[in-house]
Amino acid sequence: MASPGKLLIIGAGPSGLMAAFEAQKHGFEITIIERGRSAGGLCKTLEFGGCRFDIGRHEFPGGGEIMEMWKEIVGDDHTLFKRNDAVYTLGQFFYVSGNFQVGPLSQSMPHPRHVLERIPDSLRTAFLASYDRAQRESNSECRTAKDYRDRLFGPEFTYEAFDAYSEKIFGLQTSEVLLSSFLPPPSPNLLQHCLHEEPFPSSISYRDAKGRSQVGFTPRAELDWYPALGAGMITDRMEEGLRGPNITFYFGTNALEFCQEDSRIVSVLVDDGEGKKTTLTADHYFCGLPLRQVCELLNPKVPAELDNLVRERMPSRDVIIAHLVIGRGDVTPHHFIEVFDRNIRTARVTNYKLWSPSMVASPDLTGLGMELYLESDNPLNQSGDEKLFEVFVSDCEKMGLCRREEVRAARFFRVKGVAPAEVVRYRRHRYQRVVDYLEALENFDQTYRQGQASAMLAAKLAVRRLIGEEHDVAGIL
Ligand SMILES: Cc1cc2nc3c(=O)[nH]c(=O)nc-3n(C[C@H](O)[C@H](O)[C@H](O)COP(=O)(O)OP(=O)(O)OC[C@H]3O[C@@H](n4cnc5c(N)ncnc54)[C@H](O)[C@@H]3O)c2cc1C
Repeated sequence: MASPGKLLIIGAGPSGLMAAFEAQKHGFEITIIERGRSAGGLCKTLEFGGCRFDIGRHEFPGGGEIMEMWKEIVGDDHTLFKRNDAVYTLGQFFYVSGNFQVGPLSQSMPHPRHVLERIPDSLRTAFLASYDRAQRESNSECRTAKDYRDRLFGPEFTYEAFDAYSEKIFGLQTSEVLLSSFLPPPSPNLLQHCLHEEPFPSSISYRDAKGRSQVGFTPRAELDWYPALGAGMITDRMEEGLRGPNITFYFGTNALEFCQEDSRIVSVLVDDGEGKKTTLTADHYFCGLPLRQVCELLNPKVPAELDNLVRERMPSRDVIIAHLVIGRGDVTPHHFIEVFDRNIRTARVTNYKLWSPSMVASPDLTGLGMELYLESDNPLNQSGDEKLFEVFVSDCEKMGLCRREEVRAARFFRVKGVAPAEVVRYRRHRYQRVVDYLEALENFDQTYRQGQASAMLAAKLAVRRLIGEEHDVAGIL
């Protein structure tokens, strides 16, 4: 059978692999170029010291077509479990009631009642007084995420339960996050509600005048899904499935320029990693790179106003990821810990054996993944492993997770320029014109998204669109 066309896929991350995985079903001739030496992009799992770790914790939101996609790739090799997550703040672990969202900021939150019941009397009095003050000032509009949260929970609680997280992960003060439209004073009064009722209200979302969902509280899913051998099993399985005469991988190959003529990409200039430049052509191009990178690679350049839009975004951050092998089985009952406490530098801790028992070779071992977010010019970014060991292990000791002598092995990864997850919401509000500009390219699909579920779904539907189905690929956030 003649091939329906030649595809060039740029980037062998989850979205590039998914584009190839879907396209091979339809007989396309596929070339994948990848700058790195292996596939998987930001979604990989590696074995170390008898434990398996994701490079950065990855979770698998499900439902509908997305769940079908996971199942198609790993079949029955997955786990289903009830997550027991915690927030660590004020020197204690508190259980997580769900995700709270204001404007573009979304994060887990500790249950206010759980916090108020367990903190010292003096602190509780201060929290409640600050809440009462915020209620009395409730006539003015909320302009920032901080205004809104202060109103709901009082500034003292907001400071401990929300601000530290935004600062740590995104390098942002909640007072800097402008709401896209002014919100009316919130109702119901959540703190009051939480003090008297259990469980947490199931939803507080509502739509603004333009019909957009502005504020939401989403309770945790009943059951979570996870590939038995870690997040990287998804990308490994897809790569293993990409075999045959119609599929060619080029690793160590860097896309330098997307050459555009009118509304089409006509070729991609690549460097083979040893300085040799080649031009690759195809009928259709799929690209798993972020918007900003795509804009930099397009030739001719995108209009200056669009270029400025993608540059003026929320600051991107670097992340240092630690993998610690602990010689003890019962380090923590929590799957995932978000560390809001300001005395601790780590922002997130993942206990992989609870996500899947196959992540450890023996029940006497625990693999802890830890993430520390920082600006690129932070001196810690230049530190050697000895210093990093000190930082992460002392954080573990402060939280009472393990003792130094229990750490059998440690290693560290640095991931540069991780855009804050919340940028996903900016895709619709701030970058729409850039997205529209790329959508107007007839034979080019940008499939990178903040979240592998969306990235893979965008890639899958972009391929389906190529074979004649109708899908709003740009609308997948
Ligand atoms: C610490 C961390 C935690 C995360 N946690 C979650 C989570 O819990 N849930 C979730 O859904 N998502 C999570 N993500 C995000 C998720 O990993 C990404 O959304 C997903 O990997 C995007 O897939 P992609 O294939 O579009 O891009 P990527 O994974 O970024 O892959 C792009 C690929 O392109 C290659 N490349 C880049 N430039 C070029 C070039 N010029 N030429 C050729 N190749 C190039 C890169 O080497 C890479 O392999 C997390 C990410 C990180 C870093």
